[in-house]
Amino acid sequence: MRRRRIYEGKGKVLFEGPEPGTLVQYFKDDATAFNNKKTGTITGKGVLNNRISEFIMSRLNDIGVPTHFMRRLNMREQLVREVEILPIEVVVRNVAAGSFAKRFGLDEGGRLPRSIIEYYYKSDALDDPLVTEEHITAMGWAATQDLDEIMQMALRVNDFLQGLFVGCGLSLVDFKLEFGRLWEDEEMRLVLADEISPDSCRLWDVESGERMDKDRFRRDLGGVEEAYQEVARRLGVLPEAGPLDLKGPKTVQ
Ligand code: UDP
Repeated sequence: MRRRRIYEGKGKVLFEGPEPGTLVQYFKDDATAFNNKKTGTITGKGVLNNRISEFIMSRLNDIGVPTHFMRRLNMREQLVREVEILPIEVVVRNVAAGSFAKRFGLDEGGRLPRSIIEYYYKSDALDDPLVTEEHITAMGWAATQDLDEIMQMALRVNDFLQGLFVGCGLSLVDFKLEFGRLWEDEEMRLVLADEISPDSCRLWDVESGERMDKDRFRRDLGGVEEAYQEVARRLGVLPEAGPLDLKGPKTVQ
């Protein structure tokens, strides 16, 4: 059966789901960085991110953080609720790194006095500029109440993820979340959407400080596949077949 392709992004494809209001989220091995200026393939990434994101979103659903995740369908696909994605990336930071360290002229690795939430406007053409709450509400991307809810959810996710990862010997430096609007009989709810994986988090090994995330790809550090596998292994979600099985089918449909 040919499914209708709803959207293709950098790391994922969204297909029409089996029932109205659902979508199938397919995880690719494609990797991009610096707003598409760097592209490549991380073999097995899609399989691993599907598992890692399934695990994290399920745990978040369990503790009452609403997400779009319904269930994993197969190696590379999961069933999710169709939502209207807000055009905002929500970044939570615990340790100075990446664009934050650069912006303020800081060395990477310093713990921040408290967790910081930032918003970026999703626009490839504009390179995802940093925006304030004022910008977001004035442009009508979200209301003040929406942002209050988003901030509370983001901080809960941060508390939960920090604990989860520290239990596996990983320090959660920063991460990016996306939120969507879900309509249920005239009522709108905000839910966590997209994915949570080493593509969207910075994870540093507690002992060695080694980077176990997409920065290995961005900065040409090598051992990219191994880092994603190690995160999956520590979370206890490495597919049983192991690395040999990670290549998966060549075709999407
Ligand atoms: N991030 C992301 N998608 C983006 C931009 C950032 O998933 O388009 C994640 C990134 O992996 C990191 C956090 O958000 O965990 C903060 O990224 P930062 O602003 O430092 O940007 P970067 O240095 O990655 O360009």
